[in-house]
Amino acid sequence: MARVYNFSAGPAMVPDAVLKRAQEEMLDWNGTGMSVMEMSHRGKTYVSIAEKAMADLRDLMAIPANYKILFLQGGATGQFAAIPLNLLGDKKVADYVNTGSWSKKAISEAKKYCQVNVVAEPAKFNTVPEQAEWKVNPDAAYLHTCHNETIEGVEFPFIPETGDVPLVSDFSSTILSRPIDVSKFGLIYAGTQKNIGPAGMAVVIVREDLIGKAAASTPSVIDYKLQSEADSMLNTPPTYTWYMAGLVFEYLKEIGGLEKVAEINQRKAQKLYQAIDQSNFYSSPVEPNCRSWMNVPFILADSSLDKTFIEEAKKNGLETLAGHRSVGGMRASIYNAMPEVGVDALISFMQEFERTRG
Ligand SMILES: *Cc1c(COP(=O)(O)O)cnc(C)c1O
Repeated sequence: MARVYNFSAGPAMVPDAVLKRAQEEMLDWNGTGMSVMEMSHRGKTYVSIAEKAMADLRDLMAIPANYKILFLQGGATGQFAAIPLNLLGDKKVADYVNTGSWSKKAISEAKKYCQVNVVAEPAKFNTVPEQAEWKVNPDAAYLHTCHNETIEGVEFPFIPETGDVPLVSDFSSTILSRPIDVSKFGLIYAGTQKNIGPAGMAVVIVREDLIGKAAASTPSVIDYKLQSEADSMLNTPPTYTWYMAGLVFEYLKEIGGLEKVAEINQRKAQKLYQAIDQSNFYSSPVEPNCRSWMNVPFILADSSLDKTFIEEAKKNGLETLAGHRSVGGMRASIYNAMPEVGVDALISFMQEFERTRG
């Protein structure tokens, strides 16, 4: 068996150590004679697994006590609707910064429930507009950002200051990539299939005072108050994804927590961007101050070689490097689970490809 380096944007790689542990525990979890996926979500054993996962996430991200953690279904896209439904209260307007494809999707979903004020939108999605230029509505229920645009590879280089207006941010592709100050946010959410584990869940970290304002029409499964009171088990949760996420949290704690993870991620990203910048054959479309640590798009000088690049990379065990169909070019997603040697292998391949084809 040979594992490949999978640069997919999501579902994405899961650490080998976590997959092996899941394999060992697959048929018999800790002497129970059951697989985790066969357990009742109301049983003592599963509840202990579930609670540990939440506690480990709180610990890893240093989530303050006045924030609830919810594990909900419907992925990040479910939250595009859940956020206006839960947070608008008696307000009519929400502010959105549009930095790319995922911001746009969040905006079009929110428009079903409220008036959306787009506070900033760069002419090209390769940068984050400076906050001084934003046209905010002081009466907005919240301000939404996509902290890391997975498709364009644009990451916020700062945390916006929004005063009394809660800051709500999509962290799907950058959660757990480095420490962040959770207290600056009203709500952080992320789909699990990028930097956590398998698909099937959204992690929602929400300040307590924002809970309890859901519109009467809000479906119960995405009502933060009902889910919070039910410990995210209003109905049967995605029990196996939850368990796998827990194994990833435990693993990240074991390897040194988010400080350590950030150190590795920064090194991985820096060497890849450096290889791109030093070549005349590859280029990065993103402004240097907002280049993502997690999703690295790059362009070949001769786009007629794109197909060959992807085919030859695959022969070298480097998979899923094509950019999103909406932007073209290449994209290497290098989440926490991509080992540094995987990035090294990609850089060597890129240099060899340039030498022989460039
Ligand atoms: C992948 C992604 C989404 C969509 O996630 P789903 O779980 O498929 O709904 C939303 N936002 C960002 C930033 C993403 O990367």
